[in-house]
Amino acid sequence: MAPVRRARVLFRFRELVEREMDELAKLIAAEHGKTISDARGEIVRGLEVVEFACGIPHLLKGEYSENVGGGLDAFSLRQPLGVVAGITPFNFPAMVPMWMFPLALACGNTFVLKPSEKDPSVSLRLAQLLKEAGVPDGAFNVVHGGKEAVDALLEHPQIAAISFVGSTPVARYVYLEGTKHGKRVQALGGAKNHAVIMPDADLDQAVSALLGAAFGSSGERCMAISVVVAVGDAVAEALIERLSPAVKALRVGPPDDERTEMGPLVSDEHLQRVKEYIATGVEEGARLIVDGRTIQVPGGEGGFYLGGTLFDAVQPHMRIYREEIFGPVLCVVRVQSLSEAVRLINAHPYANGTAVFTNSGRVARAFASQIEVGMVGINVPLPVPAAYYSFGGWRSSLFGDHHIYGLEGVRFYTRLKSVTQRWPESAGGEAEFTMPTFK
Ligand code: NAD
Repeated sequence: MAPVRRARVLFRFRELVEREMDELAKLIAAEHGKTISDARGEIVRGLEVVEFACGIPHLLKGEYSENVGGGLDAFSLRQPLGVVAGITPFNFPAMVPMWMFPLALACGNTFVLKPSEKDPSVSLRLAQLLKEAGVPDGAFNVVHGGKEAVDALLEHPQIAAISFVGSTPVARYVYLEGTKHGKRVQALGGAKNHAVIMPDADLDQAVSALLGAAFGSSGERCMAISVVVAVGDAVAEALIERLSPAVKALRVGPPDDERTEMGPLVSDEHLQRVKEYIATGVEEGARLIVDGRTIQVPGGEGGFYLGGTLFDAVQPHMRIYREEIFGPVLCVVRVQSLSEAVRLINAHPYANGTAVFTNSGRVARAFASQIEVGMVGINVPLPVPAAYYSFGGWRSSLFGDHHIYGLEGVRFYTRLKSVTQRWPESAGGEAEFTMPTFK
């Protein structure tokens, strides 16, 4: 199928997702627990990648050089890999698959999606909408399951490439197993995202930004801010004074209630895990300012609710600082200078996203240049790149060579071919036994 026809199918898919937006958002909220408006937000961010992929005829253009030497021309092609697979996490059951399949299909591949077993339904609705948009049977497939399904994909000889998004131990495993079986793999892992608050920052703005970024979707976002790095004790005190009442006042409730700011966690098992981290933080000596474990949601007894939790005086050796909690828990770490903040962040095993809040262009510029993290925000708490840039962390937050979506996505889902051509005017010619050079 010509790229322009694949693009037309994606244009139609985009319209169908818009048409079904409410139903899809409700389905996500019901299985995941995030609010319906948050679920709509993730669908819109996924659609931005569909919109980017609609430009595929332009994105697949190769290069051409006339007369690279004596009657020779050179050109390059980007061709599809064949069958590619995507393995996705529970926390963005629509957006993360849409980071992958629109570009994979646009590039001319077929796609097998293995969604999270915790909220698998929306992937089937997306498959139905792709079919309705004109994707031929067999070009987009959904397979459900857990490790067993993943292993089958990793070992399958006909699968050329794997995109994975999930926790770091599984990302590492998928990368090592997939590459062992000769596949191209991009495996995005977990995170611990720091926000540095400088003394010259607008604190009210910073606090609003932190609340949304730390507690939106109950902290179950790979770009969630989970550590605040306060530069100077005065900044730390002022932040705690503002954050503490705001965290206590977060409205926790069912996802379909419009007043809800934070829905339940995804499962009881995950709720218990996050509660254990809070207990560990107390044992390790961090100062628990707000304890979300005491939350009561009227009518929500037995639900997996956890209130916003705030720790101060968190130290770099503590488990609540080193490990990803993936819940509504915000840790304040105190440092005395920007360079100490940069050293702290650069020493953390995770390096997905980070942000600095400041009014100084000089500080912002130094931070963006010196920080060793894949995605950086300047007064932007969740610097999730636009669809025509690319998403990805450094260190234990990504295994592989390519970030996801944007031009990196086009490169990941295609392979490069370089062609050198000559159209001799007459047949024959002499054999050349030396290394040919361009003349
Ligand atoms: P997860 O690693 O438990 O699961 C991800 C996928 O891997 C699922 O499809 C699951 O079925 C499969 N899986 C789980 N255990 C497996 C195993 N032992 N062997 C093979 N496959 C296995 O992740 P999750 O709990 O669904 O999602 C949350 C995690 O994802 C967090 O760590 C979060 O930071 C991360 N995440 C990262 C990004 C990113 O872009 N870097 C984005 C979203 C989520």
